[in-house]
Amino acid sequence: MHHFTYIDGILHAEDISIDKIAAAAGTPLYIYSYATLERHFLVFDRAFARIPHITCYSCKANTNIALLRLMARLGGGADIVSGGELYAALRASFPPEKIVFSGVGKSEEEIEYAVRCGIAMINIESEGELKVIAGVARKMGKDVPVSIRVNPEIDAKTHPYITTGLRKNKFGILWPEARRLYREIKETEHLLPVGISSHIGSQIVEIPPFVAAIRSLRQMVSELAAERIGLKYIDIGGGLGITYRNELPPHPAEYARAIEAELEGTGLTLILEPGRVIVGNSGIFVTKLLYVKTTAGKTFSIVDGAMNDLVRPAFYGAYHEILPVRQTTAKKVKVDVVGPICESGDFFARERAMPPLQPGALIAIMGAGAYGFSMASNYNSRPRVAEVLVKGEEFFVIREREEYADLVKGESIPGFLEG
Ligand code: PLP
Repeated sequence: MHHFTYIDGILHAEDISIDKIAAAAGTPLYIYSYATLERHFLVFDRAFARIPHITCYSCKANTNIALLRLMARLGGGADIVSGGELYAALRASFPPEKIVFSGVGKSEEEIEYAVRCGIAMINIESEGELKVIAGVARKMGKDVPVSIRVNPEIDAKTHPYITTGLRKNKFGILWPEARRLYREIKETEHLLPVGISSHIGSQIVEIPPFVAAIRSLRQMVSELAAERIGLKYIDIGGGLGITYRNELPPHPAEYARAIEAELEGTGLTLILEPGRVIVGNSGIFVTKLLYVKTTAGKTFSIVDGAMNDLVRPAFYGAYHEILPVRQTTAKKVKVDVVGPICESGDFFARERAMPPLQPGALIAIMGAGAYGFSMASNYNSRPRVAEVLVKGEEFFVIREREEYADLVKGESIPGFLEG
């Protein structure tokens, strides 16, 4: 469900035409729908209303502080993976006690920052990290609530790059070692074992892997309880998928029912870290057709957006639906939709049936709200694009388009090269 629809043959975001927004804000650009974001968050969060829980929006999916502020205002917490995300989450006014920190490579500075802010818990991903957190806690004389991100060895049956819960993945800690580390945490001054967490992957479109994960975590919680290590939080991570093409992911209510059933009577607070399911279909990427180039048997629609703006097709071979902003009844032809970057991998679609369009036409790449702008780069010295939030008939630029000067900001020419 989203609020990007055709009205009189022109694609709109809520009540404004994409044409109008693009004329004002330029292309390429990201456009998000407030109503869609709000609805997705509330549908997800309310699905768990019957049990104590915190929906910690996974900032990495889209870190724009306007979106973060929206989630915070709706009562959400934040799942962060870096000092930068912690900074953005605090700027967006998430309460620190609703922030959880995951990631395999937290630096000592990032850990200190998190401890200083008093976040809900740090999800430990290795023994080395445990030692660094213990050192920071000692140095700062502060108690630090921690959890261990366990690797439950569950196949989430998704793309290999976004599977995280297998023995061969770098994430989490296998249970026998995690159990030993919980004992160590219990014995370590200033470390408080408060939770257990896992995240088995992303774009998961079936329930059984989640049920297997929560069951496995519950079993671990019981084993720890038997050793008098009592936990407060059980964190199932994120990962619920969305429809990009023809996937049929479970509705959040169905997902919630399955998870809840496993937690009855435990008294634990469930932590959820959804990213994609909240923002994925709440955003589109709008790009303009520059040239139509025909070579031996192939037609390339060359657009002004590129893989540096939206890398998912190039990176994962991901599918995104592509729509002309102005509907046409012309017979479809097969084209490759490609960007200006000097890489053959710079494409949004290959051999896609699309109506023939003239240079200047606008194209919407759907489902671009998650891992779109947040994975953007300046490759080929391309300024990062603008982001716009639409609410009803109004729109707001929530990130300015970068300028050329931004591309060299912080760079300098050493004296011996001057003159
Ligand atoms: N939590 C953790 C630890 C993650 O690594 C991720 C994504 O990789 C998420 C949550 C969010 O996942 P998704 O966007 O699939 O919900």
